Amino acid sequence: MGAMQDYWIRSVTEDGTVRAMAAVTTRTVEQARRRHATAPTATAALGRTLTAAGLLGTILKLGQTVMVRVLGDGPLGGALAMSDATGAVRGYVVNPDVHLPLTPMGKLDVGGAVGRGTLHVTLDLGMRYPYHGSVPLVSGEIGEDLAAYLVTSHQIPSLVALGVLVSPDERVLAAGGLIVQVMPGGDESVTDYLEARARVLPTVTSMVSSGRTPEEMVQAALGDVRSQVVERAPVRFRCGCTVGKVRGVLASLGEDEMDDIIREQGQIEVRCNFCGKRYTFEDDDIPSIVGGRSTNGERSPS
Ligand SMILES: [Zn+2]
Repeated sequence: MGAMQDYWIRSVTEDGTVRAMAAVTTRTVEQARRRHATAPTATAALGRTLTAAGLLGTILKLGQTVMVRVLGDGPLGGALAMSDATGAVRGYVVNPDVHLPLTPMGKLDVGGAVGRGTLHVTLDLGMRYPYHGSVPLVSGEIGEDLAAYLVTSHQIPSLVALGVLVSPDERVLAAGGLIVQVMPGGDESVTDYLEARARVLPTVTSMVSSGRTPEEMVQAALGDVRSQVVERAPVRFRCGCTVGKVRGVLASLGEDEMDDIIREQGQIEVRCNFCGKRYTFEDDDIPSIVGGRSTNGERSPS
């Protein structure tokens, strides 16, 4: 693994008609792999989904969130990732054990793992209702699917490239992503130029593996089209779950339900879907959970 820390950037041209977002997410995806013990194909699907959410997070303001769900009929059973404007991402796949034979091109078969289905994107912009859009999956490879979503739901023609490279020992060697968008009012000749560049652009995994920064990835995609970085943020896997939130969920179950679980299982174990962290509670925790109090000053680790 390289020395580069994960981060994303958002760049725009001076006239605002071309926007580019790029991220290196190698450490974040490796962190996700270890938390969820994903097999290689599942790692790639999870990493691409996390990176997609991270890239969409580049257009958010503080307090806003984005959720990306890839729901297909393949063995993966679905992937879900969330991000915010600060580069904090979290997510999971339903079946982390999924590993399929490589494609004829020698790639991890993310499309096969995902199957046919729908891509959902939910933007919570702090309004009364979140904005939700969805598109049928094009290939289940997630990058193409996100591009279809951006064109269909946002009417913004977009190049999307997402990639995760997994080593034979299953660690994440490189992960990242790139989105280039021609905004309304953009010049058609610029669009043609960017499309021509996209056809010869190295893959994201090859760029990240060779140590290219997000700035250099944007440069590779835009060529002679000059842009400036307007936002930059570190990317890291971070879950917002706390023991207090878990106790709140348990309290809503009710005392009888909790007593039943204790009787059957000896304790109550709650596993956070997003980060895999396990929270356990004993019989004598129940009164304080029901009463909504925190016992013995426990604090949740971040
Ligand atoms: Zn969590």
